Formats: sequence, structure tokens, C-alpha cells
Amino acid sequence: MSCFEHKSEPAGAMAPRAPGVIPVEFRNGARVKSADVPPQGVYKPNDNILTPNMRSPEYVQMSTAAALTLGIMDGRMHRTSCTRCLNLLLTYPEGCRANCAYCGLARHREAERDYADRNFIRVDWPAVPLAQAIDIVAKDGAASAFHRMCISMITHPDSDEDTLTVLKAWTDRIDPATIPVSILSNPTTMTRADVAQLKDLGADIFTVALDAATPEIFERTRGKGVRSPHSWAKYWEILSDASDIFGPQKFGAHIIVGMGETEHDLLSLVQRLVDRGGHSHLFCFFPEKGSLMDHLPATPRDQWRRVQLARYLIDYRGGRLERMKFDGAGRVVDFGIAQSELDAIIGEGIAFRTSGCPGKFRDDVSACDRPYGDSPPSNIASYPFQPNGQDLRKIRRQLRPVGKP
Ligand code: SF4
Repeated sequence: MSCFEHKSEPAGAMAPRAPGVIPVEFRNGARVKSADVPPQGVYKPNDNILTPNMRSPEYVQMSTAAALTLGIMDGRMHRTSCTRCLNLLLTYPEGCRANCAYCGLARHREAERDYADRNFIRVDWPAVPLAQAIDIVAKDGAASAFHRMCISMITHPDSDEDTLTVLKAWTDRIDPATIPVSILSNPTTMTRADVAQLKDLGADIFTVALDAATPEIFERTRGKGVRSPHSWAKYWEILSDASDIFGPQKFGAHIIVGMGETEHDLLSLVQRLVDRGGHSHLFCFFPEKGSLMDHLPATPRDQWRRVQLARYLIDYRGGRLERMKFDGAGRVVDFGIAQSELDAIIGEGIAFRTSGCPGKFRDDVSACDRPYGDSPPSNIASYPFQPNGQDLRKIRRQLRPVGKP
């Protein structure tokens, strides 16, 4: 590591807008609860009908990619026909009570859009009866396209209990050895006992969406800076519980690249997680429509590719932060391995695929491929499939050494 002091960007460069005040008649899902339209099966967001009164555990939302793979929605995706991860997002008319600045589900959107109609990681999330989703996967058995299921908690008073109910309903019908389950947790409402209970009920991997790479960025984007309830210390407390309870390789953290941290900041966190026995799952910052950061630029591709590659080396190829070199702006200038070896790893392309919990192909290939969750198809950040020769030529151009045009 070079001996420069690496400075994160000042807050101004990636500062979120301040959340507005929500009129009382729109708070806490009041519009949906007073209309009280009974749900009738699958609900497609923004379908020009009043949003039904849907609530977990009876209802869950899932990504458009998962709904297409499950066969409950028609449509096609660019260059891929399915996702390998069925992500089930808890749903309530009150929605998520947090206010994370980069997130389309955040509370500050209450007046503008009902919870079940909000975009999240760039796509719509149809709502589906949980029993219907489980039925389809149970019938497909080992032939299911899904390699993993993930329950995504949100910040809501019922979220802990409903996560247990969804997990139990799943494992009653589907052997977790066939389709293992991950938990994308919400530490703010959780205790160590909750983490242990999820493990006892058959969860395989536990993840914490730290999202921010530093405590300052955390506070600015999902703490007091945006009137949101989360704290960096509580997130690390639950992460530490997960490392004890779930054990090595069975816990991890989500991190968003490009919210004002340096590459060195972010990779220090990646190394810290690996040193504790966990993994990191990276997301490229994208200005989510309707979020408090939708006016800010997506992460430059050169920065993203360097971090993506360095994280892959640390997580899967024995790379170490202290063998890498950084410039005065904290950018990677040397990955700490021989150029021939680096070239071979770049050529394999796996480093540039979506990162997340593993599926059935190999440990370093994520089941959670989140098609176009962090970029448009025209300029892919996380590849939801194996990059081909043309993709790799583009990636190599994006990876150009620091300082070269
Ligand atoms: S807690 Fe999660 S779902 Fe809720 S606003 Fe924050 S990032 Fe979005």
C-alpha cells in the first residue's frame, strides 16, 4: 500500500437531497389502507388500478426477473432468460419505515407512490401470494431454475416475525439442500436471538446490507442525515452475531460502490469482511428514479471495474489489500499480483459478473444475478451472465490504468 493519505470525496459531491415533509394523509400507507381494495392474486405495479391492501406473510414481492422466471409474468430480458435467485421482498401498505437516500423503497416516497408500486434497484417488484410462489417452485423440485431463495427484510415492526413465517413456509415444502435460503437482514430491528432463530429454521447464509463503505457515508445516506433510523454500530453488531452463528463463508455484506468513498476505503472494508470469514457483495451506484440521490452520477466505469476486480481477488483468489498499491486519490494502481496472472483472471470474466450468494455452478458465481439491477443493459455494470469476448474487450478498455486516457 502506498503511504499517501486517501481522502474520501467531500459530502457535497455525492450529497443526497433532504427528504420533504409528508402530509399526514399519505403517511403509513393510509391511502391503501383506507381504500382497502382486497388483493386478487398477482399484482403488477402501476397497473392503473388502486393498489390492493397486501401484507406479508400472505403476500411477498419479487423482482421482475424472478416473476418472469417463475412464469407469472410475460416478457423478455436482454441476453438472459432467467435469474437464478428468487428474491422475496416483504410487503406492507406502510412500506419500509427507513429513508435510505439511494433506495426506491424509502419512506420519503409515501406521498408520491404506494409501497407496492415503487421501483427498487431499477425494476418493478410484482406482488404475489406466497403460497402460489412456493407451489410453483415445489412442483418444479430439483428442476427449478432457481439455485437459491432470498428473503429481503425491510424496516417494519412485523418484519422479524414475518421473515420467520416465510422461511418456515418455504422449508416445509422445499428442501433447503435443493434450494438454499439466504436472509437479507434488517439489523435495526433485530437481536442476536433473531439471527440464531433464522439459522435454526434452516437459513443457509445471512447478509447485512451495510451499503455504505464508511461510517460517515452511512450516517449521511441512511442515518440521521436523511431522518432514517439505521446506525453503523448496530449493523456491525448484527454482522458480528452472524459471523458467530452462521460461521465462515456463510455471512456477508452488501456494499454500494461510488457514494463518495475512495477505492481504498471500499477495499479496506472488503478485506475486513474476508478477514472475519465473510464475503462482500458489490453494487454499482445507480441514481434510482425517485430516490434522494437520483440527481447524482452513476459510478464511473473505470472506478467500478477496478473495485470489482480487486474485490474478486480478495474474496476468491487470495489477494490482499496490503499487497495492492493506491495513488493519492485512493485509486488502485497495482492489484498486487503478476500481470500474467491478472490477465488470465480478467480473461475468465467471472470477476465482472454480479456478486452475491453462490448458486450451483461454482462458489464464485452468484445465484443472485440481479439482471440490470445496477445499470442499464446498454452499459452493464454487473454482468448477470458470463461476459463474452466482446464484453471482455469493453471491460479491458474500462479497466484502463489510472492516468491513461
Ligand atoms: S432499509 Fe433497505 S428497503 Fe428500507 S429504505 Fe433502506 S435500503 Fe431501502
